[in-house]
Amino acid sequence: MQIFDLVDRHPESIFSKAGFYQRMMEFSMRDEHFKVQMFRFVDVLASLRRGSDIVQHLDEYFADMRNGYAPLIRTGVSFARIVPIISGKFLRWNVSGMARQFIAGRNPEDVMKTLRKKRRQGIGFTVDLLGEAVVSEEEAAEYTERCQELLEHLARETRGWTDPLGKNSGLFPVVNVSVKISALYSQMNPADPADAIAHLAPKLRPILRRAKELGVFINFDMESYAHKNATLELFRTLFTEPEFRDWPHAGIVIQAYLRDAETDLRDLIAWGQARGTRFTVRLVKGAYWDYEKIKSTQNGWIIPVWLQKPESDANFERLTRMLLENESIVTSAFGSHNVRSIAYAQALAEELGIDRSRFEFQLLYGMAGPIKRALVDMGYRVREYSPVGELLPGMSYLVRRLLENTSNEGFLRAKFSEHVSATQLLRDPLELVNGAVEAAVSTVPMDGSDTATFSRNGAPLETPAADAYKNASLVNFVYSECQEKMRTALREVRAHFGQKHPLLIDGKEIWTDKLLKSVNPSAPDEIIGYVAEAGIPEAERAVKAARRAFETWARTPVEERCRLLECAAAILDRRRFELSAVEVFEVGKAWAEADGDIREAMDFCLFYAQQMRLIGYPRLTQNVPGEESYQHYWPRGVALVIAPWNFPVAILCGMVTAALVTGNAVIMKPAEPSAILGSLLMEVFQEAGVPPGVLNCLHGRGSVIGAYLVDHPDVEMIAFTGSREVGLRIWESAGKTRPGQRELKRVVCEMGGKNAVIVDSDADLDETVVDTIYSAFGYQGQKCSACSRLIVLEQNYERVMHRLLAAAASLRVGNPEQPGITVGPVVDETAYHRIQEIIEKGKTEATLAFQATNIPDKGYFIPPTIFTDVKPEMTLSQCEIFGPVLSVLKARDLDDAIRIANDTDYALTAGFFSRSPANIERVKAELVAGNVYVNRSCTGAVVGRHPFGGFKMSGGGTKAGGTDYLLNFLVPRVVTENIMRHGFAPEATPERRAEFLWPLR
Ligand SMILES: Cc1cc2nc3c(=O)[nH]c(=O)nc-3n(C[C@H](O)[C@H](O)[C@H](O)COP(=O)(O)OP(=O)(O)OC[C@H]3O[C@@H](n4cnc5c(N)ncnc54)[C@H](O)[C@@H]3O)c2cc1C
Repeated sequence: MQIFDLVDRHPESIFSKAGFYQRMMEFSMRDEHFKVQMFRFVDVLASLRRGSDIVQHLDEYFADMRNGYAPLIRTGVSFARIVPIISGKFLRWNVSGMARQFIAGRNPEDVMKTLRKKRRQGIGFTVDLLGEAVVSEEEAAEYTERCQELLEHLARETRGWTDPLGKNSGLFPVVNVSVKISALYSQMNPADPADAIAHLAPKLRPILRRAKELGVFINFDMESYAHKNATLELFRTLFTEPEFRDWPHAGIVIQAYLRDAETDLRDLIAWGQARGTRFTVRLVKGAYWDYEKIKSTQNGWIIPVWLQKPESDANFERLTRMLLENESIVTSAFGSHNVRSIAYAQALAEELGIDRSRFEFQLLYGMAGPIKRALVDMGYRVREYSPVGELLPGMSYLVRRLLENTSNEGFLRAKFSEHVSATQLLRDPLELVNGAVEAAVSTVPMDGSDTATFSRNGAPLETPAADAYKNASLVNFVYSECQEKMRTALREVRAHFGQKHPLLIDGKEIWTDKLLKSVNPSAPDEIIGYVAEAGIPEAERAVKAARRAFETWARTPVEERCRLLECAAAILDRRRFELSAVEVFEVGKAWAEADGDIREAMDFCLFYAQQMRLIGYPRLTQNVPGEESYQHYWPRGVALVIAPWNFPVAILCGMVTAALVTGNAVIMKPAEPSAILGSLLMEVFQEAGVPPGVLNCLHGRGSVIGAYLVDHPDVEMIAFTGSREVGLRIWESAGKTRPGQRELKRVVCEMGGKNAVIVDSDADLDETVVDTIYSAFGYQGQKCSACSRLIVLEQNYERVMHRLLAAAASLRVGNPEQPGITVGPVVDETAYHRIQEIIEKGKTEATLAFQATNIPDKGYFIPPTIFTDVKPEMTLSQCEIFGPVLSVLKARDLDDAIRIANDTDYALTAGFFSRSPANIERVKAELVAGNVYVNRSCTGAVVGRHPFGGFKMSGGGTKAGGTDYLLNFLVPRVVTENIMRHGFAPEATPERRAEFLWPLR
């Protein structure tokens, strides 16, 4: 209450600056749509250089506003259009003003004015260097250098400054610097904390050494959850080293909004006690709440943050107690603007007899001025977190602050904008936690095994609508348990190298006198295993078996077929680490990519089972009296599935499950380079209980058994994913009707792409560079969705290319058995030579702007390569490369960019980075591709969420993982009965009825 009294003595609005900023914030708090548009406009503004661009964006973001401020805004926009240079400047000036409210200075010199002023008010500082997301080692080196300069500068400029309280000053050096760890190393990967530490420690040691000499305090800030464990480990590693072991002026942040926070803090305190030297913990709630929730929900992970605000508040108090009770080893810095959180710390410290001078309160620059003043008046230590930097890198910080200030849940808004009473604001957060919400929170196991999903086994006909499909989870490699499971699986799989796998025909293992070997592309002298090779006799036997089995399988109830798929998903889940490990060895996938493939396979099983329940029963076409007419589907017959090696389990499984669940009998031919994985998938289905002959596995050469089976009169359909060359041959051959053929063959044909990503002149480069690098070089560019053409608007070209080339040069290339590798080997020797040839040809056509040099000398490693000065007609622009090669084209404007993007034979994926709502809308409509991605990577389609497939020479227009995919595997039938007898008809006709089963032959 005392704080409130002091605060109320100097009434101030939520924001210390009035005018434009305050009005914008008031609008934002009243209107959610305005808030979104406003924050997006602020986000793009710094990157716009011309006044006319600024006015154009203003128009696009606000002109169609439909709220009370609409007339005002429209007038403003019309006025701005008259003299764009002046209005552009005016807007930039105002938004810069907003940013300056939260950014203490543009550079170290500039910030001193602020720090001196604060010093006069009895407020200390910790300085943080703002920066764009660090996407390359070049940028990381710049940040490291800036940190060093900052230390020197602050130490020099504050010489002679004394502690404001004069007591226990030894615990609180005047100069305090907050370091953003991810800005020091661009390749931090949650799966590989050891690599992060190995790169970060050498960069930090000189900084820490110098800080120690200068008497400067260093704090490790905490960022997203993905980096948390590495940051904690790095802190412990460095400060256990003999050189820093006795140094007490190091601190780290604990985020109370994390469910893990209590365990982390307990571990940290135990570490501190063992170390025997004081250290500091800044306790905060956390700045990335929305991000963590969204990211985890998208990936099906446990949400690491508390979901109710009072839970974070209550945890903050629990951790406050833990900190103060361990005051003998840890110095507390409470980072909060919430008077209840602050007061709790004060009261507890008093109860425990801890002097006010032995801990501090930290608050952000530009926020909660009256609270800071009140705390100083009460004799507490106050330190202000003072960001330093330019406007462009400061924008993401600014947007975070704007969100925080306008958040419905936030303390500051409640107190200073909505004037909620002190009694309300001081309520115990535990009283406010809603137990029901917590109980309902999903408890998805962290390795991704989603037990709840399988409870759908035996589900009734009333399945949820398609859009209610809940995807299987990805493994979250941030957890050390998951890293350990993967390492164990890699060891175990390696121990079984060399195993032989048979063909599987009619439920029987078949061996032939020929074996095909499968090798590790990272180390081709390692043989992963062997598979029996089928010839024409085995192919013929498989067709006969499938034909026989089809008669029964086609009459097997839908529910039973769906359960087979769900059972397979459960087995895939049980074996997911093992299968991922085999992918790492057999096709050179990085850990997370391999896991993504297994997750996708599980999704195909579950999603198609769900879809089949929706379409598997005869449905009334129309409700007309006197007649019932039911549409339903029959399977086509024997389906041949020819799959690629690049998604060796997922795509094979997707095509197989679609064929099986719809009642077809299947002959699957896995790709030669991923034959072992094909056999393992066969094992999964056998264990799941697929009846003999219903699924048969043939390994062999596409040109021999593939061609034979495509032409076979007893094969009714072919599901193919692979190269254009083979796809077109199948399409043509299947079009011929041969003697004895009963049906017109249906072909599902998915082929390649020459996918383009356009970068607009206002694109967010942090996002663009990271996502483009991932789209182009993730899995070595061997995804059919990979970005192979980057089209950059002239205006932005230099900026994009500078950062892109540096980012490519920082990529980790190596054997993906190691965690955290981004670029592994290409799949085999043929691919290796083919890509090398294209690169050589490319060198004669365009400019080789970048080619990595740090690649292993053994294995099929192609260095990530970037060509510039590429023209639309060149081979580099037209031919599908399927390797880590990116061609960059410059476009005059958006018209030119769209024309270039659409100028290929393919139409698979395409991407666009922009912050112009009008351009985004235009590109959504005009890019010719089956999957268009805006402001994100153009790879990584998720079953059900992004039905995948293209047209033109990319495919026949089918969508794997989409609601209409199964229809390709079925023939529709309609049965109509006149149910009127002498003018009398039943009143109600059921919507669905029992199946009309395939006739016995
Ligand atoms: C000096 C200082 C340094 C900081 N350093 C860092 C740092 O290194 N890393 C970092 O991540 N954060 C850091 N923060 C914290 C962050 O920037 C916010 O300022 C802080 O979380 C706001 O909390 P509060 O107690 O002031 O306000 P309050 O209004 O009491 O709390 C708001 C916070 O509650 C949490 N929250 C909001 N909604 C929910 C919900 N539905 N369920 C659960 N929790 C919810 C969020 O963390 C949100 O920020 C720092 C803060 C300060 C003051």
